[in-house]
Amino acid sequence: MTEAEKFLLHGKWNNLPELVHNSKDLIAIFDGSYRLRVANSAYCQAYHCDPNTEVFWPDIMRANYLNKRGPVVVTDDIDAWLVEALARRAIQTYRSFEAELHGGKWIWITETVSHEGMTLFYATDISTVRTSSRQLRLERDAARRASWTDPLTGVPNRRYIMDRLEEWHESQSGQTEFGEHVLAVVDLDHFKRINDLYGHDVGDEVLQSFCQHSVKSIRPFDLFGRIGGEEFLFLMPNCSPEVAQVRLSLLQSMILHPKHCSEGIVVTFTFSGGLVRVRKDKDVHCSIRDADKLLYRAKEEGRARVLY
Ligand code: GH3
Ligand code: MG
Ligand code: MG
Repeated sequence: MTEAEKFLLHGKWNNLPELVHNSKDLIAIFDGSYRLRVANSAYCQAYHCDPNTEVFWPDIMRANYLNKRGPVVVTDDIDAWLVEALARRAIQTYRSFEAELHGGKWIWITETVSHEGMTLFYATDISTVRTSSRQLRLERDAARRASWTDPLTGVPNRRYIMDRLEEWHESQSGQTEFGEHVLAVVDLDHFKRINDLYGHDVGDEVLQSFCQHSVKSIRPFDLFGRIGGEEFLFLMPNCSPEVAQVRLSLLQSMILHPKHCSEGIVVTFTFSGGLVRVRKDKDVHCSIRDADKLLYRAKEEGRARVLY
């Protein structure tokens, strides 16, 4: 953690520079668990929240959505929207976009993610700027998002995952020190049986449920997405294989809770996985093949396990 982040994290709210506190721009910092840590009054007013209470980004968005206040969220399923929004952060350390607030105000948001997973949210009022081409820009952004999102689960699709992986590997390889990074390929166990027993729609619900849990379990700078029918990929930068194993075990125990699907059907399911350290001298496709081999072994050894 940098000195500036320590200052912001550990400093009392009143110690924050007055300029930031009184700025009309919206400024907030979230930690790696998406908990709101600090926010100026403009942010608190616009997003109806208080950093002095233990509040997380998804809770802020859900409460605003239900109360029709704060940012405008166009969806009829807020949980699905949250999955997509969290997964969308995938490995991007900087992103910017425009958003509407209830009441007609438009803001330009930038989000910067640090290596520790802290997110700096910054937004400024653009209500009167370039209004004539706004609709066009929004449509373009929506089309771009749709092109890299898996429509069933809302998480990144295979093409997006591969593009980001290659880009990320290239940028890491250019650095003098190649850190410890983990890639995992996981596959749901006996998924065909779920389809055969309960029908394709229940199978779809299981895939969505798995993604909801996975997205909650990843850090802001991890990459997660659907690379095949019931096959998913995790990239966990700056993470040891041991820690990655623990994180995937936690995910396994989360999904082991019976899933209540439509029409009263209750399903339990597990996944198997292969986990490898990403190497500087090996391209990411090799790492995926190596992880696939381990996944295959995990299936042979009885499933519901992740091998390293
Ligand atoms: P294993 O434990 O060895 O992985 O067995 P499995 O049954 O999970 O694997 P298999 O490859 O035999 O079957 C995968 C099934 O996943 C077959 C396919 O119909 C189903 N599937 C793929 N995509 C979707 C989808 O989007 N929705 C649903 N409901 N099923 C899907
Ligand atoms: Mg399977
Ligand atoms: Mg499979």
